[in-house]
Amino acid sequence: MLKYGRKFGNRSITTFKHLGQTQWLSRDEINSYQIMKLKKLVNHIYYNVPFYRDIMQSTGIKPEDIRSLEDLNYFPVLTKKDINDNFDNILSKDFKSRMVIKASTGGTTGDPLIFYRDFNTRFWTEAALLRGWSWTKYRIGDTVIKFSNNDFPSLLGKMRTKLINMYYFPAFAEKDQLVDYFTRLNSHNQFCLTGLSSNLYRIAVECARLNIDYIRFPVIFTTAEMLYDYRRDLLEKTFQGKVYDYYGCNEIGSLAYECDHDNKHITDEHVIIETINSNGKSVIDSPGEITITDLDNYAMPFIRYRNGDVGTITDKSCPCKRELRVLKSVDGRSQELLKTSKGEHIPSGYFPSKFKDLAGIKRYQVIQHDIHRIELKIVKSNSFSQQELSQMIDIIRDKVGITVNIEVNTCDHIPLTAVGKMRLVVTHIP
Ligand SMILES: [Zn+2]
Repeated sequence: MLKYGRKFGNRSITTFKHLGQTQWLSRDEINSYQIMKLKKLVNHIYYNVPFYRDIMQSTGIKPEDIRSLEDLNYFPVLTKKDINDNFDNILSKDFKSRMVIKASTGGTTGDPLIFYRDFNTRFWTEAALLRGWSWTKYRIGDTVIKFSNNDFPSLLGKMRTKLINMYYFPAFAEKDQLVDYFTRLNSHNQFCLTGLSSNLYRIAVECARLNIDYIRFPVIFTTAEMLYDYRRDLLEKTFQGKVYDYYGCNEIGSLAYECDHDNKHITDEHVIIETINSNGKSVIDSPGEITITDLDNYAMPFIRYRNGDVGTITDKSCPCKRELRVLKSVDGRSQELLKTSKGEHIPSGYFPSKFKDLAGIKRYQVIQHDIHRIELKIVKSNSFSQQELSQMIDIIRDKVGITVNIEVNTCDHIPLTAVGKMRLVVTHIP
């Protein structure tokens, strides 16, 4: 809140309080709330955003035709390429009079994207984060320790985050440094730990190795990567707390937060999330490509934006009594699903739990070049054994079929993505 100074902090807090009430709306009330915001947004884009005005005029759709959530189907899915190709036309005509933040995403994975978010959507993002975090024992002002890699803030950023009691530590610290951090952490009255699950997992493994058992975090927030059960278990055991995973993306932010019943509730008041199958239909209870409509970014509206992830939404109820939709799973990026000759998809999350005990393999990446050819890149550790490698190959072959050619390449290093994530599976099949 204080990140943006007093004025913006107040807006985030007001929105946070509002979300504290709307989280108890019934499903029908949530739908009405979304339709109300969608109508307002469509009215805005019709008169102010040339890209959408053209689409609506070419299909004969008027703002008053939007009456239900299904009417979102009038709009095509928006891809990164669409945004890059039509950049100026997706900006609202009143863009210059709005307060905006320029941001970017992409890099080593997929197409890079530059985009603008207005302050309104930032308030909602911030407020939704506070609400999601408030579903845990976290309360505003509690100390948060963030292990971070390349989004390490500037000096000014560090000063600002100090105001909200967030302290940064570099995630790729060397072992001696880690001991030093843990000693410092022990003198903080720390409460929450946050970071990428792979980073936090690595730190928990180091703790076990160094016999450090005195660090406690009642609440552990993980994000931005798939959280595997074995990682969750180790984090909870090591830090004697509860893990809450949340889901977001740079372009829109604050998409879904886990409640006490391990269900990720979508921030329905801020976004409309759909999962779309290969026939272009919105589906429930089966996996589909995630598309997101940001109901609050008027500077550069994102309608049915495909962020590249695959996930499953369910409308089953949650014991916490919130009727915000539940994102049952995020199965990874669509370019991270192995495809078999039978047309099945294997999520990248299948392998980590199978390979986690292979001490001789420090890192790996499964690259599918085509349906018959898979490359397995490995970084060996000192305890490498041929037997473990054969085990890995058998596990992969068991899933993709015995006729697939698996070639092994040993390397010294497998690069992380621009935001420090490890891609375990890369598929070059469209
Ligand atoms: Zn719940």
